[in-house]
Amino acid sequence: MKVLQEAETSKVRNFYEGDETLRLILEDTLDGEFLSYAKRELQLFGEKCANDIDERAKHTDREGEPRLIRYDKYGEETCEIWVNEGYKRTVDETYRTGIVGYVHKEIPELGHKGNYTYSFAQGYLLSQTEPGFYCPVTLTMATAYLIDHYADEQLKEKFLGHVCATGDKPLFEGATFLTERQGGSDVGANVVRAEKDGEHYRLYGEKYFASNVGMCGVAMVLARIEGEQEGSRGLSLFAVPWRKENGELNGLRVRRLKDKLGVRAVPSGEVEFDGALAYVVGDKEGGFYYMMEALNLSRVCNAVASVGIMRRALVEAKEYASRRHAFGKRLTDFPMVQDSLGKLAAKLHVELATVFDLIQLYEKVTNNEVTEREIVLNRLFIAIMKKESAEQAIHFSHETIELLGGNGYIEDFVTPRLLRDAQVLTVWEGTANILGLEL
Ligand SMILES: Cc1cc2nc3c(=O)[nH]c(=O)nc-3n(C[C@H](O)[C@H](O)[C@H](O)COP(=O)(O)OP(=O)(O)OC[C@H]3O[C@@H](n4cnc5c(N)ncnc54)[C@H](O)[C@@H]3O)c2cc1C
Repeated sequence: MKVLQEAETSKVRNFYEGDETLRLILEDTLDGEFLSYAKRELQLFGEKCANDIDERAKHTDREGEPRLIRYDKYGEETCEIWVNEGYKRTVDETYRTGIVGYVHKEIPELGHKGNYTYSFAQGYLLSQTEPGFYCPVTLTMATAYLIDHYADEQLKEKFLGHVCATGDKPLFEGATFLTERQGGSDVGANVVRAEKDGEHYRLYGEKYFASNVGMCGVAMVLARIEGEQEGSRGLSLFAVPWRKENGELNGLRVRRLKDKLGVRAVPSGEVEFDGALAYVVGDKEGGFYYMMEALNLSRVCNAVASVGIMRRALVEAKEYASRRHAFGKRLTDFPMVQDSLGKLAAKLHVELATVFDLIQLYEKVTNNEVTEREIVLNRLFIAIMKKESAEQAIHFSHETIELLGGNGYIEDFVTPRLLRDAQVLTVWEGTANILGLEL
């Protein structure tokens, strides 16, 4: 007797192929040459995501999660983050597609920049397989955004090329550190302090939730310059290189990595600053405002990760139900199973279209092509879609576990990982209450 009675399709899996909603969105939003380029590249990336990256993601989640190696063999504190070889390949292959870089620089083949629509289409495919790694990608997107929009020419020269690297330069992944022990939602309670040292600053204090520690080349950090007022208005934004030019740690250490429910691919840790060299970004009074702008981008990324998980859940549920028999029939022949799958499919179609509508508006806002009203609507829609899609990602993962029956609960299948990964999407980048308050 077999678990699945119908044969597996011989076709190579590809997350791009067969996604009619995504195809329609791309055809609606990209023009001729860019559209052909995007379709070709997404076809290639969709296959990679469904196969190689998926295999590696499974390994990273179960046996190969990042580890902190605090001291080297001579007892020096180096705070290396060990990641497995497959993860390194996923990092390399993904950034080379320009998922971050081509939002800010030319796509050589086209002679013009890419855009967020294309980047988010890539992110949607990636988060169907590895939402844990999509987190560092989105942190790097936020870092690139902050440097490109607010840093002076010297800082851009120093960091932007590395943050946007596509194989042409050593890559600096990014990170955004706001949360401290006493407050994640209440960022105004931040106490990490910045002391003036010549032209730049030195940071002291601790960040309690810091994703991509040790993997990032540069982190964007909120801190309070000595003597500045309390609350969020007294915060400044700093670009903090992880290492000095000689390779030593830049006056910081990782206290520990968090042992997390999901998104295990990304090392999330606690960071202690003890005199880290920090470059102020933009006006020192503008730190909180800049970070809120980056947070808006991260919330769109969160919605993209959510629809990615929703699609993967639906694909898994459909595939399993069409191959599994019960009571002498295929599961998909039962009206109640059809009803569940139909509702998920309809919901995904609507959510995906809405998220990409929002991305169109976001794109206009970042290009300064909008009215005051659209700027307000953009904020409003981002908050609503972040909350809505994150909750749907959990719902889809839960429904899919049920549709797979007992196997859905077993870690050999992707379904438990989908649920564990989805659960964080309602927490980071603002909980439902905080989003509600912002509205
Ligand atoms: C895996 C992971 C990775 C993370 N990575 C990062 C990172 O890289 N950088 C970073 O800066 N942060 C990071 N975070 C932190 C994350 O952003 C915060 O956990 C989140 O913002 C919530 O903050 P908190 O944990 O302090 O919860 P709290 O702020 O203590 O909130 C607890 C609860 O109280 C509610 N609440 C709080 N204030 C109000 C209010 N005024 N009205 C009603 N309800 C309220 C919240 O909605 C929530 O349900 C990460 C978190 C996780 C889990």
